[in-house]
Amino acid sequence: MTANFDIPATSRAAVITEFGADLEVRELPIPDLEPGALLVRIEAATVCGSDVHVWDGSLHAGGVRPIVPPVVPGHEMTGVVVSMAGDDIGYTGGGRVAMGDRIVFTQGRCGTCYHCAVAGQPNLCSHRRNYGDNCDNHPYLVGGFAEYCYVYPSSRKIKVPDDVAPEWASAGSCALRTVIAAYERLGRIEPWQTVVIQGPGPLGLFATALAKRSGAARIIVIGAPAARLELAREWGATDLISVDDAPDAETRVSTVRELTGGNGAEIVQEWSGAGSAFAEGLDMVRRGGRFLVGGQVGPHHVTIQPAKIMKNHLDIIGSMSADDSHYWKAMQFLSQAKQEFDFDRLMTTRYGLHDVTAALRGMQNLSEIKPVIDPRLLAS
Ligand SMILES: [Zn+2]
Ligand SMILES: [Zn+2]
Repeated sequence: MTANFDIPATSRAAVITEFGADLEVRELPIPDLEPGALLVRIEAATVCGSDVHVWDGSLHAGGVRPIVPPVVPGHEMTGVVVSMAGDDIGYTGGGRVAMGDRIVFTQGRCGTCYHCAVAGQPNLCSHRRNYGDNCDNHPYLVGGFAEYCYVYPSSRKIKVPDDVAPEWASAGSCALRTVIAAYERLGRIEPWQTVVIQGPGPLGLFATALAKRSGAARIIVIGAPAARLELAREWGATDLISVDDAPDAETRVSTVRELTGGNGAEIVQEWSGAGSAFAEGLDMVRRGGRFLVGGQVGPHHVTIQPAKIMKNHLDIIGSMSADDSHYWKAMQFLSQAKQEFDFDRLMTTRYGLHDVTAALRGMQNLSEIKPVIDPRLLAS
């Protein structure tokens, strides 16, 4: 093990002790490293919509993912390598990990299950090791909302470019890489096509930026609140449909139809996570068009008419998470597109570990876009 950095015996971490309750700051042991594992000191983490669902218990209750408190939440984080169990650990994209490097990393993947090894879809690994998980047992520090985080040996590591701020990289390690992976599954966007984006949260905003970069003729963004829609406009939306002004789905669908000459949009992308969004989006796609579903993590059920899929000749594309190539691409995009898109505009409020509950509440009530958790901020 290489450890030149001054590492304490314990690390502060924000801990979910009970679903929906205020988080506690606890001191957790700095774990011994398995061969190939790393320890990073967190520079910044960001809050994801799914952290809210981990905290409120809905992912667990809905059977989406079993979660047993106590849990250190957070899976969007950038860390500085302060300890390594092995001196020949490689990066995705080339190069070797060195002490002091700034990195992001994937969930742990087994590399040998059907999904990893045969289908080439490690994002669907059957033995995935998550971050934002139970912290009762070794390796304890398995979430981003802490001073230190353990990096599983089977997590792929990606170096963060020097000109990418740690909170951008954190958002890039979940929201942006998810969108980049989904765009690969979606396929080409032609410069005469219209894209509809449901939900101007972090996913929908990154999707707007990528649609702009892809050259889409028209980008219609649907959602609320106004501050998010305004940022969507800055990042390339040509038309905005506020759900505050148009609270019923029929009006939103007819507005999209009017904006597209009655045809509907070539591409509709669902990033909102709202229960009603799937059925609504289905009515916005032109016949023969594509519907990308990337935001539906909740346990809700909805009713649709399957004949719409057949008779309208639709491609319905689900996309879940990403592989390490998409993390690498996300880091390059943040570096290359930073003049065109002010990524600081996503980052709303900075919170210390003692204030993670407030950050989660802000994400839940949409007063925040991307709260930043900075473990160096201390309670006053
Ligand atoms: Zn996330
Ligand atoms: Zn696997």
